[in-house]
Order: sequence, then C-alpha cells, then structure tokens
Amino acid sequence: MREYMHFINGEYTRGSSGKTFDNINPCDGSVLGQVHEGGQAEIDAACEAARAAMKGPWGSMPMNERLDLLHKVADRIDERFDEFLEAECADTGKPVELASHIDIPRGAANFRVFADVVRNVPAESFRMDTPDGRGALNYAIRVPKGVVGVIAPWNLPLLLMTWKVGPALACGNAVVVKPSEETPGTTTLLGDVMNEVGVPKGVFNVVHGFGPNSAGEFLTRHKQVDAITFTGETRTGAAIMKACSDRIADVSFELGGKNPGIFFEDCDVDNAVSVAMRSCFGNCGQVCLGTERIYVHRSIFDEFVDKLAAGAKRLKMGPPGSGSNLGPLISRQHRDKVLSYYQKAVDEGATVVTGGGVPDLGEALENGSWVEPTIWTGLSEDAAVIREEIFGPCTHVRPFDDEDEVIALANDTDYGLAATMHTRDALRAHRVAQQLEAGLIWVNEWFLRDLRTPFGGSKMSGIGREGGVHSLEFYTEMRNICIKL
Ligand code: NAD
Repeated sequence: MREYMHFINGEYTRGSSGKTFDNINPCDGSVLGQVHEGGQAEIDAACEAARAAMKGPWGSMPMNERLDLLHKVADRIDERFDEFLEAECADTGKPVELASHIDIPRGAANFRVFADVVRNVPAESFRMDTPDGRGALNYAIRVPKGVVGVIAPWNLPLLLMTWKVGPALACGNAVVVKPSEETPGTTTLLGDVMNEVGVPKGVFNVVHGFGPNSAGEFLTRHKQVDAITFTGETRTGAAIMKACSDRIADVSFELGGKNPGIFFEDCDVDNAVSVAMRSCFGNCGQVCLGTERIYVHRSIFDEFVDKLAAGAKRLKMGPPGSGSNLGPLISRQHRDKVLSYYQKAVDEGATVVTGGGVPDLGEALENGSWVEPTIWTGLSEDAAVIREEIFGPCTHVRPFDDEDEVIALANDTDYGLAATMHTRDALRAHRVAQQLEAGLIWVNEWFLRDLRTPFGGSKMSGIGREGGVHSLEFYTEMRNICIKL
C-alpha cells in the first residue's frame, strides 16, 4: 500500500488530523494507497513555511542561483523519469505512451523554460522630460508576489501543476500546492526532488485534501496567500474568486472549454481525422483543449464521419503498459457524469455513430471507470451535449455549408478556450482563425505547444494568460521607480 503524505517545510508529514482517504486505481477500482487529508492546521503550517522561506534564504538568493536550482529540478525529474511515469499512470490509468511523451517531459520542461524566460526578460524604462529641463528616469522592477497558492486538476497532474509551480518559483515566489484528490502521486514525489537538489525548505509545499470546506478552500481563504492560480472547472473557479475577493487576492484561472473543430472541404482529410482522433479521444477526452463539437463541410461530411468512426473503433482500451491507447476516465463519479451525457444525447435525438456505452473488458477491469469512445450526429445546437463540457471521449459532428455559418456556430458558446481548424487555403486560415473567439487556435494541428506563447481562455474559460513572459504578469508585481535627474 502506498502512503501519500503532505510535504511541508521540506519534510513529509502525516499532519495532525489522522484522517486519510483512498487513492483509487481507475482501471479496476482497487485501492492504490492512503492519502493524508489536510485541514486548516496543515494549510496554516504550509503557508507559514512559505512565508518564512520568502523572508529567509529563498528571498535573498541571487537570481542565477535560484534559476540554476530550477534547472536541477528539471534534470532530476528526467533522471527519475520512470518513478514519475509510474506514479502518473497509476493515479490516472493513462497510456504509458502518452504520459512518457507528454506529461513527464513537460513536467521537467516547465522548470527549464520558465527559468530561462526569467533570466532573459528585459526591464522597462522610460526617460521623461521635466519642466526644469533635467528630466527623470523611470524604470520598473519585478518583485515576487509572495506566497502563491496552486490548485491543480487531475487530468494532466504533473504537467499542469508544474506549469504553475515552474514560473512561480522562477519569479522568486514560494508555493503551497493543493493537488487534486484523485491524483496525489507525482506532486508528492516532487517534494523529494526539491530536497535532493537543495531547494530551501518552505519554498515548495504540498497539502492533500479536497475542495470545499477542506484544504482547497482553506488555501484560497488564507491571509498569508497573496495569489491563487487555479486550473479546473469553471464553477470551482467562481467559488475560488468569491473566496479571494474579500482580501483582493489576485487570481489566474484556466477553466473549462467546449472547443470547436472546423474542417473545410479542402483539408487533407486523413491528416484532419488523425488530428481529430487525438483532440477528441486523447487522454480519454479529459483535456481542457479537447474537441467536443466538430463542424465538417457538407461535401466531405460522410467521408469524415466514416473515417473518424473507424479510428474510434480501432482504439485499444486497457490499463497502462498493455499497449493501450485509450485509458479509463479518472473515477466512477466522473464516469457517471459522462454516461449521463451519453444518455442525454440519445434522449435529445442523436444518432449514435459509434460507442455510447460501457465496454466489456473482462472481469479484472469491470470495476474500472471505462467508457466507449463515442461519436454523435444529428443534434441541434441547443442540445446539452453541445452546450455543456462533458470531459469525456465523445464528440458531436455536424455539417456546414459556408464560412460565415461555421464561424457563427463555432463562436456560439459560453466558453472560449481553444479551436482547431483545417484547410489548405492559407488566406482562409488567417481570415477564419482571427474571427474565432478562443484563446488558442490551431490550424491543421492541435495541442502543439510552444511554452513561450500565451495560454488561456476567454469568456467562461478563464482569466489571464500564462506562458512565456505572460506568466510573469501574474507571478510578479511591478514596481516603478522614478528618479529625478
Ligand atoms: P475541479 O474544479 O473539480 O477540481 C480542480 C481542483 O480544485 C482540485 O484540486 C479540487 O480539489 C479543487 N477544488 C474544488 N473545489 C474547490 C474549492 N471550492 N476551493 C478550492 N479548491 C477547490 O476540476 P477537475 O475535475 O479536477 O478538472 C477538470 C476540469 O478542469 C475541466 O473542467 C477542465 O476543462 C478543466 N481544465 C482546464 C484547463 C485549462 O487550461 N483551461 C486544463 C485542464 C483542465
């Protein structure tokens, strides 16, 4: 049995409550281990440790020393790759292939990239005139915000947590991380890496627990926490914003999506289908950037749907290490939610092209959280499965006839995170992409990420942008100094 402890002030601790909860293997429902449940006492201790680190060696460490340490963190994740991979796959059930190409390497890259961004960012300065003719010089410096609370989801646990911890530490902050209760493994392991490379105690803290009335909410309400960066569901974001509002703590939100995929008649259909396979079914559809609404030009509609359905049927479901390319959903609770949408789609009159149920994978996996990859057609745009984020391996495909129509369809949503569009016409690519109301637009691709670029969503998909220098806007305060010459 594994045991997942908090990591506070450089030490693993069971905390004071004595309460634990099960970490469940989503492949078969078995118990992987016990997670210690943090409460107010653990959040208090973690915030105090973080604050002390800011006042102590971390706060006074020369910038290059700090950034070199973050490179060492990245190197150590690479060296302990297999342990991170095992922990991530155990918690999520995701295919080894996926986690070894995306989750773990990106976990390391997030430390390297942001260390280099901070090392190279230029300062802002303005020379100004004054009535006496001598002038004045303004320059702005960036200082860390202080203690940053990081609240992470379960779908890409290491990747999304380090996407925040990397820049936060690079900018000189200390962090208190509340990982998802579903995926405590890799975040816990990272504590050990921090100690191994000599990150001062209190800089990186982890408290396990749940959201409301638990570690998550206590973190958002803590007076010692200067800012909260959160990735997760839109309605959780709303709750966190309220919790932070009394003390005007800054927030950065990466929230839900209901992302469109647009496939014009001149696209390379085979490439387009292979991209759609990833964007609809990758990570079992549990990617915020995933495509749950597809619009295909009528002239290629049948061919596209046939090829996408054939691809979905070829996917091999199974546990990590079995050569599978489709894992389970994260939990039974999430499976209930996804299956309720599978039912709603049928009730609302959808044609189920493929899937729609629970696969039979044998007795050993029958208590897992498996669902079939699913494609629907025939729904009107007000159907629940077209309006609401499902976060499962499913998509609805609808034909369209012209460009203006498909832009209007794509934008008719409360969300604004991502879009993927496919065409060989470069002019159309620019014209349409610039009219799509989303923070991230891919042409003939999906989820191709350069970490220097802005990442985030509009409308109900988030507040703010992270990535490259944009992360600095959130993780630092700017101080303007004006010197009369
Ligand atoms: P979630 O909102 O249920 O939970 C995320 C985290 O918030 C967990 O650690 C949870 O314990 C915590 N939490 C829950 N309620 C809280 C509260 N009241 N106060 C403080 N913390 C609280 O999200 P999830 O189910 O883990 O993740 C899936 C969601 O995340 C989807 O909606 C998906 O679109 C979104 N997501 C967005 C992005 C993005 O970049 N925009 C990336 C990944 C996932």
